[in-house]
This record gives sequence, structure tokens and C-alpha cells, in this order.
Amino acid sequence: MHLLLVEDDQLVAQGLIRSLRQEGYSIEHSGTVKHALQCIAGGEIELVILDLGLPDGDGTQILKQIKQQKKIIPVVILTARSSIDDKVLGLDMGADDYLAKPFDPAELFARLRAASRRINHTHSSLLNCGDVVLDTSAHSASVSGEPLTLPRKEYMLLKALMENQGRVQSKQQLENKLYQWGEEVGSNTIEVHIHHLRKKFPKDFIKTLRGIGYVVGKR
Ligand code: CA
Repeated sequence: MHLLLVEDDQLVAQGLIRSLRQEGYSIEHSGTVKHALQCIAGGEIELVILDLGLPDGDGTQILKQIKQQKKIIPVVILTARSSIDDKVLGLDMGADDYLAKPFDPAELFARLRAASRRINHTHSSLLNCGDVVLDTSAHSASVSGEPLTLPRKEYMLLKALMENQGRVQSKQQLENKLYQWGEEVGSNTIEVHIHHLRKKFPKDFIKTLRGIGYVVGKR
């Protein structure tokens, strides 16, 4: 899942980014209202962690903007303001949950999972494409029911492709995803890992469009 973390405290943000990546989220980070609004306008954000006190304004401005969008994006507010009034205000404005600092990361992760489950009506963490199934909560894959072991980067690339079935993903897009997941990306990283992935999956499961990118599923 692609998550926007809005937090101006660099120390808090860095710690969260590390642990959220460990949890399998890909992250965009923003420390200002202005930049956060740009990220949301980009259209790829699926979940938002929102700090309210920001240097150029108030996080509730961002919440308002999100609620005006057609796409439903769950928002978990994370803030030092812990009075009942602030909680009620945030929830009234459409936030999905509210966590006061200091907080336990395990609790944040549980709330994020709950928020995304509420949005994801199928309650399923399984992505299917033909005989291939990806379980995004267990970080595992199988082909015709046979489990497959995938190293982290291969899993992430497969996930990126399966989340976009039928849509070609350029090498640059895949590189950006790996980068957002906190992975090192070299000049031939994508080619190398796609090459390894291919050997594990049915012939032509991952199609290459020369000079354009990669795709799984029907186009
Ligand atoms: Ca702040």
C-alpha cells in the first residue's frame, strides 16, 4: 500500500518511515501542508498518516482536501493534541482514526490495517492473476497453489505488477516503487529481478514490452 506520511518532526518521521517500510508500506513523506496537497493531487496515495501541527498550516486543511476527492483515502491522525475536543473535531471532519503522541508503533500499525480493511470492502489481502496468487498480508506468493519463496525485492516488484494488472509499468515506475519501499536501486536492478521472477512463474506471466515496461494480466 502506498502511504503518505505527513509529519514535520524529522526524527519522528525518520523512525516511522523505517518501521512502516518494514511493515510493507511504500512511503511518500511530507513535512508541509503545501507539499502534502501536491502528493495527494498526484493520485497514487492510498492511506494517510496525518500530523496536525505543521509549519505552514494545519493538517485539517489536508483532511478537508482528501475528503473532497472521489477516491476514498483513509486518514489516521497522529498528533500531540490529545484533548477530547481535538479528537472529536478530527473524527467529525472525516478522519478514520486518531492516535495521540506518544504512541506505540504496534498500535499505529493495527489502526492502519483496520482503516485499510474498512475501505477495502472485500476484506481480502489476496491478489489473483491467473494461477498466481499474492498474499499481501503474509508477503507470500503461490502458483497453482504451490507456495513460492520470493526475496524482498522480487516480492515488491511482483506486488507492484499485480496491483496494476493490465497496465504497463515502466522501468522508472518500478524503480520509484522500490525506492519508496526503501530499497537500493541500481541501473539494472529491475531487469535482474524481473529475470529471476520470470523463472519462477508460468511462461509469459510477466510480459515485456520492449522499451516500454512490464505487465501482468490481460491488457
Ligand atoms: Ca508537528
